[in-house]
Amino acid sequence: MGQRYSFSKKKISQLFPFILKNNYSDKFHDECGVFGIYSPFKIDTFSLIQFGLFALQHRGQEACGFSVLRDGFILSHKNEGFVLDFFKKISNSECYHGNAAIGHTRYSTEGGQSKKNIQPFFGEDSYGRSTISIVHNGNLVNAQYIRKELEHQGINFISEHSDSEVILRLIQKYLPEYENNLEKAIQKTTVDIKGAYSVIVLMKNKMAAFRDPNGIRPLCYGMLDDKTYIFSSETCGIDSVGGFYVRDLLPGEIIIVDQKSIQFSKLRKIKNRNVKKRICSFEYIYFSRPDSLIENVNVYEVREKSGEKLYEQHPVEADVVIGVPDSGVPASIGYSKASGIPFKPILVKNKYIGRSFILPKKEMREKMVNLKLNPILDEIKGKRIVIIDDSIVRGTTSRRLVYILRKAGAKEIHFRSASPPIIGPCYLGVDTPTRKDLISYNHIDKKSIEKILNVDSLEFLSMDNLIDILGSIHYCFGCFTGNYPVQKTENNIT
Ligand code: AMP
Repeated sequence: MGQRYSFSKKKISQLFPFILKNNYSDKFHDECGVFGIYSPFKIDTFSLIQFGLFALQHRGQEACGFSVLRDGFILSHKNEGFVLDFFKKISNSECYHGNAAIGHTRYSTEGGQSKKNIQPFFGEDSYGRSTISIVHNGNLVNAQYIRKELEHQGINFISEHSDSEVILRLIQKYLPEYENNLEKAIQKTTVDIKGAYSVIVLMKNKMAAFRDPNGIRPLCYGMLDDKTYIFSSETCGIDSVGGFYVRDLLPGEIIIVDQKSIQFSKLRKIKNRNVKKRICSFEYIYFSRPDSLIENVNVYEVREKSGEKLYEQHPVEADVVIGVPDSGVPASIGYSKASGIPFKPILVKNKYIGRSFILPKKEMREKMVNLKLNPILDEIKGKRIVIIDDSIVRGTTSRRLVYILRKAGAKEIHFRSASPPIIGPCYLGVDTPTRKDLISYNHIDKKSIEKILNVDSLEFLSMDNLIDILGSIHYCFGCFTGNYPVQKTENNIT
């Protein structure tokens, strides 16, 4: 039997700051998920949007919401909390059966955590009836500037600094100028906005989906049957309602569906320019579900390959490979395949851990250290371990894990990151910490990070290998290289 162990208070505050800070979520935050479904017939939009959003729960756990098109009226419902808890509280589900629905799972990257920022955002006519509703994943770099301009023109905002509401207000502003032509209003809106955006718009008689010229955030479409269209951040959303994936929206593409047709067009903004596709590489590394395809590339495969490459890059002798659940596991399986070192799932994650934890009294907090991840002690004692996580950002998770493994009696610990060192924050939809918090920005010398983490060796997947796995020209590697496809225009990078 392995030995149980205890921690001093000082050690706890160094390794597990989340416990003493009254905040279980010490990490930086995910982005959002968007989903939409459109049918010419009345369908159970309540269940379909619920399934779609549930599949996209991993992209945002702070809040969620949806809008349904029913008998020509748009009805919306949104609140804080997890998808299933939110839907469980809705008693009159049949009132939300209609022709179409859009929905959103939220983690705030822009606009703060106020309830006012929960999506969808909708616009009303002079009788107070919703006529348009939108959901957005991404981050605009010039939203606050536009907002000020619009406020100057007398346009009211409901949210606190939400960049998504800026997209809605612009579309609303341009619709009358183009006799309610949605495509033209979107065209004009996208001339103004800059940044990352995957957007779904619901109107009384149609739905539109569009993606920024670089295609930074994902958005795909599929079909439920030959007349029912689905839009989703990831293919797992389409799978969740029993639909089939058709393809990803092209960067800068607009798709509009209505009762009779589907229409494809390109943002005017990219028609005459050589704008390059720049899909966020971190989608493959961390965000997206492993069962999703992004740009028809299987996320799981990318992760497994990164493990294989890590071994080829830096072979090491060891007794066991373990992956940090969940996103480090495919890479550790790849590492195991390439090295022949057995993979064992001996770091056990409590699947029910939520983002916010109602903290018990101080004396109980000290008992919480292995609450999320707990090792199987007998499998670790005396072993030479390769441990793989998808990324090292601040170094908090890795330090914590190494501490736990050392206490469990590991003989050697070889830490591997299935992505290159993160040296830059993201202002295009991922709420990465500022540079001062990034361990690899602050310590260029790998040896000093090894020391901080207290590991026998540390290696990161090389940029060359990441490019080799993904292909260089199609991705944003901003957080690894500091080169971003869209330059910031507001003070949103530090
Ligand atoms: P850190 O503990 O700050 O070094 O962050 C690395 C850990 O956070 C790894 O376990 C990753 O799986 C996880 N991670 C990476 N990106 C994100 C993100 N955007 N939101 C939450 N966790 C993340």
